[in-house]
Amino acid sequence: MWSIVDQTEWNKMQSTFPKESWPEGNTAPANFRAITEAEFCHSHYYTGYSYAAVGYFQFTRSNDKNEFKERVHGKIFINSFGKGWLQEIRHWENKVVYWLFDLCQHEYETTKKANCYWEGKCKKCGHLHAVDSSD
Ligand SMILES: [Zn+2]
Repeated sequence: MWSIVDQTEWNKMQSTFPKESWPEGNTAPANFRAITEAEFCHSHYYTGYSYAAVGYFQFTRSNDKNEFKERVHGKIFINSFGKGWLQEIRHWENKVVYWLFDLCQHEYETTKKANCYWEGKCKKCGHLHAVDSSD
């Protein structure tokens, strides 16, 4: 169940990312994988930018329908790039396990380029991304 943080971004994401890549019931989102704490620190999935939505989920299957050995449950955060992470609090182990996912593993093609400006569009999902390095 999602709580929407940014409705405008959320609406865009709904029309950009294919339905089958989103988490659904007990099925994890696409490209869902556990990483170490150190990897999470350097992953750039968590940034200073806000996330578009947050939710609590329990997964028993990966996106390709393989069963997990143990149920994965925790809080999910997703940003407007369709990238996100889940924090699994394992109280019984006094440990936090981080999971990453990507609704699309973007492959951007440059659509516009000027001095300090770059604009691209993902070949797979059509996601638009712009970087203005003069800011
Ligand atoms: Zn994409």
